[in-house]
Amino acid sequence: AIDVRQLHKSYGDHEVLKGIDFSVEKGQVVCVIGPSGSGKSTLLRCVNRLEEPSSGQILVEGIDITDPDTELDKVRSRVGMVFQQFNLFPHMTVLRNLTIAQQRVKKRGRAEAEKIARENLAKVGLADKEGAYPGHLSGGQQQRVAIARALSMDPDMMLFDEPTSALDPELVGDVLDVMRKLAESGMTMMVVTHEMGFAREVGDKLVFMDGGVIVEEGSPVEVLTNPQHRRTQSFLSKVL
Ligand code: ATP
Ligand code: MG
Repeated sequence: AIDVRQLHKSYGDHEVLKGIDFSVEKGQVVCVIGPSGSGKSTLLRCVNRLEEPSSGQILVEGIDITDPDTELDKVRSRVGMVFQQFNLFPHMTVLRNLTIAQQRVKKRGRAEAEKIARENLAKVGLADKEGAYPGHLSGGQQQRVAIARALSMDPDMMLFDEPTSALDPELVGDVLDVMRKLAESGMTMMVVTHEMGFAREVGDKLVFMDGGVIVEEGSPVEVLTNPQHRRTQSFLSKVL
């Protein structure tokens, strides 16, 4: 589970997150929507400490990861992240992309790391691609490799930042299917997405952000069909 309390983030005198409070229970899927620049990516990046929060607390399984004594490698291996751009190493095979952090951060031996990598490649439907280089895969396949790579670190939770936004439309479904299966397996997930169908069907909670605050949150069906705030209504009227 994750607990965010009064999270603030500024870049210089530009305050991007203005006091965010929310929680994600173990096994829950929380989807985050909101206009460009509202702070969605910054929020996710704070949760796995790619960004240093300016103030506030983030508790992951009860441990405050904003504590300066927390080891960042440990935090990042507990909180897996998948980006819009897949960020795979282009000069390494798929298998090596999945084993390198396991060996360096988790200190696993090569054989064990490869075994875990293969299990996760099978989960995302790419068991036959372990020897391929990322450049020879479709965008959807690369994104599924990125998901398998994050899973190979045994994360407590997974963060997804618009994981399908860079994909050709016909490749989106395969990635969403993998995420749906992951949700069904009980993974705790935070997903920034424009896929309202996914949010409605898979999400336990939908959060609408605007201007660095959470304007509204609730069950996806509630928020999508009966938004309470004018800003939510106006955003949804543009995207639905
Ligand atoms: P999008 O939907 O376009 O991805 P977003 O909701 O993810 O938008 P963020 O990327 O979190 O928004 O950005 C929020 C604000 O913070 C924006 O005004 C952006 O310009 C600013 N910002 C983000 N990263 C930095 C940075 N490294 N330095 C300065 N300003 C930044
Ligand atoms: Mg973003």
